[in-house]
Amino acid sequence: MTATPAWPPASTPRLFVETPLHEGAAIVLEGAQANYLGAVMRLKPGAPVRLFDDASGEWLAEVADAGKRRMTLAVTTRLSPRETVPDLWLLAAPIKKGRIDWLVEKACELGVARVLPVLTQRTVVDRLNLDRLRAHMIEAAEQCGRTALPALDEPRPLREALRDWPAERMLIHADEQGGAPLADVARPGPAAILIGPEGGFTAEERTLIAAIPAARGVSLGPRILRADTAAAAAVAVWMAAAGDWKQPAT
Ligand code: SAM
Repeated sequence: MTATPAWPPASTPRLFVETPLHEGAAIVLEGAQANYLGAVMRLKPGAPVRLFDDASGEWLAEVADAGKRRMTLAVTTRLSPRETVPDLWLLAAPIKKGRIDWLVEKACELGVARVLPVLTQRTVVDRLNLDRLRAHMIEAAEQCGRTALPALDEPRPLREALRDWPAERMLIHADEQGGAPLADVARPGPAAILIGPEGGFTAEERTLIAAIPAARGVSLGPRILRADTAAAAAVAVWMAAAGDWKQPAT
């Protein structure tokens, strides 16, 4: 059926697929996605599904064939182009499993364009499962309506990540020792938020950060926040002050 304001219904399942989408494409789903649509949602041939591929936007498809372990979907109409997300990066030191999963999920929901894990002197987590983190971001994107997934980088030492830092990208260092309120510092344009590990940054790292011309030390209030809370709070404040939570000027 053709897309209209009333179609597809709001309850239509929404999935990310790796396969490029276009009108007339046949998308074959297996494993967890086929199980979700077939066994959990009990979709039958003709049922609508929304798909996005992180490249061409969001598409309406319908179930063409519903097997026990395999679903085939026929792509019909493009519902929207790929969105433009604000140019905000999040540099965060890896923290323990569970908390880092929450952090990337919230980063995706709140609209971050790129997540860069940075290894610091007090980072205690030495391995990151990027596949698991990406799966959390995909789930968050499916749920929140994103059509563009955040990029997710391999972890890099902080010094390397900050080397040749572009002058035009404000580096917002969330500093529990104090700074200007983030809402006063944030302005539209390329930006990155830098969050330390559970133990914070060392004096040596603080000197390294402060030496970057684009760096601004900011406060997130008088309380010491956990790293994951600090990341979500900082992204939310930036989005409200400089990102796409603002109504476009009329
Ligand atoms: N080791 C520090 C201490 O005990 O004082 C706390 C580090 S905090 C758990 C982890 C990171 O969250 C910090 O490196 C900082 O980037 C950020 N953070 C936490 N609270 C903050 C605040 N009130 N203002 C700015 N950044 C904050």
